[in-house]
Amino acid sequence: MKNKYDVLVIGGGPAGALAAKTAAQAGNSVCIVEKRPAIGTPVRCAEGIGKELLKEYIRPDPRWISADIESARIIAPNGTAISLDQARAGNEVGYVLDRKIFDRELVWQAAEAGADVIVKTRATAPIIENGAVRGAKVLSAGVPADIRAEVVITADGTEAQFARWAGLDTTVPLREMMSCAQYVMTDIDINAGSTDFYLGNSIAPEGYLWVFPKGDRTANVGIGITGRKSHDGSRAKDYLDRFVAKNFPNGKAIEAIAGGVPVCRPLPCTVGDGLLVAGDAARVVDPITGGGIGNAMYTGRLAGEVASKCIEAGNCSKEALMAYDTEWRASRMGMIIERNYKVKEYFLTLDDKKLNTLADSIASISFSEFSVSALIRELIKRNPKLLFELKALKDTLA
Ligand SMILES: Cc1cc2nc3c(=O)[nH]c(=O)nc-3n(C[C@H](O)[C@H](O)[C@H](O)COP(=O)(O)OP(=O)(O)OC[C@H]3O[C@@H](n4cnc5c(N)ncnc54)[C@H](O)[C@@H]3O)c2cc1C
Repeated sequence: MKNKYDVLVIGGGPAGALAAKTAAQAGNSVCIVEKRPAIGTPVRCAEGIGKELLKEYIRPDPRWISADIESARIIAPNGTAISLDQARAGNEVGYVLDRKIFDRELVWQAAEAGADVIVKTRATAPIIENGAVRGAKVLSAGVPADIRAEVVITADGTEAQFARWAGLDTTVPLREMMSCAQYVMTDIDINAGSTDFYLGNSIAPEGYLWVFPKGDRTANVGIGITGRKSHDGSRAKDYLDRFVAKNFPNGKAIEAIAGGVPVCRPLPCTVGDGLLVAGDAARVVDPITGGGIGNAMYTGRLAGEVASKCIEAGNCSKEALMAYDTEWRASRMGMIIERNYKVKEYFLTLDDKKLNTLADSIASISFSEFSVSALIRELIKRNPKLLFELKALKDTLA
């Protein structure tokens, strides 16, 4: 292991892999440290991603695509289903990935571009000199070491700590941390071409439950509920177990995971002197869907680009690196996160009766587009009163 690089990346998930690949392709010496012994495991994800979004970063490959999805269904508390099929939804419906292989492929591409990859190596503290981050202290297979770098890109995921250690505000309010549980279930009767989203306060309070197929009789069956709705006897796993017992009584859970998804606004600042924060660590998850793979790849790649430019210019100050923060906030991703945050806050106020009324009002519509804005636009058309309730969103839904 070398002890000095141009760019040190913390975390070998999608954000870290794209950051490392981009910085290495620009000619920098790059190192990724990953605390786990293997890239890609355990998988803490339902693995769904839009096709067009994915293609912006990597050519789809059957080796890491578990299912090609033709339709999506949103199921209201009373059972009303809003269906979006491929013909109407275009290419937006998506794939269910196999992230064990997908994450490895992304990191392999970073390695092929020249990045060093060191697993079983945990960053334990930033190296700070004159107020600027100059690298990280690590424990590599239990052995302490210092790795110095011009820029550290921290992509350490939901449970990220590095940015906080470096002095950034990374707090997530409890009500904005989704508590998730998921089984990979096999031997179950599902529509293998459809992703299903179940809504309702008795099914998934302030969240949703998903069934994402991974083959003919296998699916990720999971749930996210807000932290404030999670209590003894009504944890995410309790809701999930009740759903599974009712809907898949003979299914077998061959893998169980738990995890958190931040559905707050992104960090107020994702940059420090010598430091960039990307992916879940920057809290750039979609506040409605909880999807973060695409946003992680976007911010990772952008962080790699901005770090490379600043290193070339010989200025890695916070001021110079701020181009990263400014660009992602002004991007389509930044605007969608801001809009969906407001929509999510509104949806949290709805009881099951209102959810049913809204779902019934648009259940028979042929959607020409599968997106949150298309759904909201139709909801407003059918329920003009909503416009007042969603006043704050008027401009962003245009
Ligand atoms: C239950 C669940 C379901 C989800 N479903 C979906 C979905 O269907 N679609 C979607 O788009 N998103 C989904 N997400 C979100 C998605 O998984 C994340 O947004 C995505 O993985 C973020 O990528 P990342 O690279 O930022 O972080 P991660 O993928 O979490 O990678 C961070 C990496 O950093 C490593 N690390 C952490 N700390 C250190 C340290 N100190 N030193 C070294 N390494 C460290 C971790 O081990 C990890 O490998 C889901 C999340 C959960 C929990």
